[in-house]
Amino acid sequence: MKHPVIPELSLENPALATADALNAAPLGICITDANGFFEFVNPAYCEFYGYNESELLGEHFTLVVPDANRKLMASMHDAFITDGDGSELQQEWEVRHKNGQVRTIIAEASRIIGHDGQPRKMTFIVDISVRKRLEEQLRQANERLEYMARHDTLTGILNRRAGLTRLEEEITRSRRYGNILSIAMFDLDAFKAVNDTHGHSIGDEVLVEMSRLVGRNLRRTDDLVRLGGEEFLIIMPEVSLASAHHAVERLGQLVADTPLTSRELTMTISAGVADFDDSSPERLLERTDHAMYQAKRNGRNQVVQAES
Ligand code: GH3
Ligand code: MG
Ligand code: MG
Repeated sequence: MKHPVIPELSLENPALATADALNAAPLGICITDANGFFEFVNPAYCEFYGYNESELLGEHFTLVVPDANRKLMASMHDAFITDGDGSELQQEWEVRHKNGQVRTIIAEASRIIGHDGQPRKMTFIVDISVRKRLEEQLRQANERLEYMARHDTLTGILNRRAGLTRLEEEITRSRRYGNILSIAMFDLDAFKAVNDTHGHSIGDEVLVEMSRLVGRNLRRTDDLVRLGGEEFLIIMPEVSLASAHHAVERLGQLVADTPLTSRELTMTISAGVADFDDSSPERLLERTDHAMYQAKRNGRNQVVQAES
């Protein structure tokens, strides 16, 4: 069904000038001359940029462009005037409000020839700052969610799932390039006694401080993972079994030498170390776990190398 034509709004009605229609448009419209100077700006355009009409007319359009983009935008305007095919693709731009605030718009332009035979650029702008801001908030929220999904809430280190994924990646790399790879598993000794004696929250603090201590003393390429409870995994790419053994002994000593929490608790760890021998990740973890339990059986506070 066609909408009825309201006589007063018909463009054929001589009572309505084209400028009136442009001025009533809810989107910002400007016309710039061949050299980029404002010849016409509608109220929506003025309002969007925070200027009065008189402050814009006669000014170069780069007044509303951030400094860094001025040269580029001016030369694009020139190109559009001289060899534009009459229309410009919709494009996203950063622009600047009078108060300095940077906003994002989508601009679309047409080339028009005036009665004087001179080309001009007519630009239509749509404010997408709100959408941009929402997109950015969404991106940040997703980043946070992804981070939370990969990290343990208590200690902030990689959780079991993310850690096992890391391990699989490293194993794939080792298989492909023949790189050496070692891992260690360790478990706090007599941790239950901490909870029983000092309460669960002090137990939590022990876990947090111990992970921070160990994490700080790893190589940048190593990863510390909380497998669950008070059991941890260290992934050490490019580290031989002997070096891994040495490194974990050093970490064990560091833990034993560092009083933890306000109760100044002394904790020890029992660990197993193994190097990747081209079997499956499960097999590697199993061998390491075995070595760790051997360390427990041997009397705790020590590191045991896995058998091949
Ligand atoms: P072992 O030397 O044989 O490892 O003895 P253990 O006492 O450390 O071992 P056990 O497995 O008996 O106890 C582990 C305890 O860790 C039991 C559990 O309640 C506690 N635990 C597991 N996760 C957490 C946690 O997130 N916070 C606290 N506070 N305790 C935890
Ligand atoms: Mg334990
Ligand atoms: Mg345990």
